[in-house]
Amino acid sequence: MWSTVLEFSFGAILAYLIARVPFLTFPRMRSWNEQFPPHPEALYVDSHLIQRVMHMRIFYWIALVFALIPLSFGWFSLQYGSAPIGFGMWTVSGWLILSRVTGVISGDGPSWTKQLAMRLQLVKNNSESEESCCNLSNPMWEVIAVRCTTCGKNLLNIPRPDLGRPRSDGWIMGFVRLLLTDGKPIIASEEE
Ligand SMILES: [Zn+2]
Repeated sequence: MWSTVLEFSFGAILAYLIARVPFLTFPRMRSWNEQFPPHPEALYVDSHLIQRVMHMRIFYWIALVFALIPLSFGWFSLQYGSAPIGFGMWTVSGWLILSRVTGVISGDGPSWTKQLAMRLQLVKNNSESEESCCNLSNPMWEVIAVRCTTCGKNLLNIPRPDLGRPRSDGWIMGFVRLLLTDGKPIIASEEE
């Protein structure tokens, strides 16, 4: 009985990790983050940041492709190897695919969307135009919203999701936190 539970958990955890490999590793490489201040400092709203939002969106969706690996291994394991490991892998990767696809339909999608990138672009354009909040408009994405550091005006009321920078809370705690939240901001928007 215990060995079955252990094998099932092993398969489930393995599948959970494999699907998140791209999101947890690629954007965190040092060469990818040189243009950004270290986590958790605020980020200046510029084209680098907007591009990063689009990249995070890609890494979020690549998980669906990576989930096919434990899905197929799980199926093989069910057929020819250990049934509990296979079932564990199959359940978790199948659930990931289902929940992400249905999340789009129900509106509970990823934190990084094209709309978010467009709204950041608007903030950037506004700050450079004559309608900017002040003469020295300097929009920075803080933890709970985009604010102008010169006049303090709230420019975009969206909490900052994970943007792929190496976490300040250390490698292990950062890893655990990302695994549990999938990079979603923990703090809700001020309006809510
Ligand atoms: Zn301002």
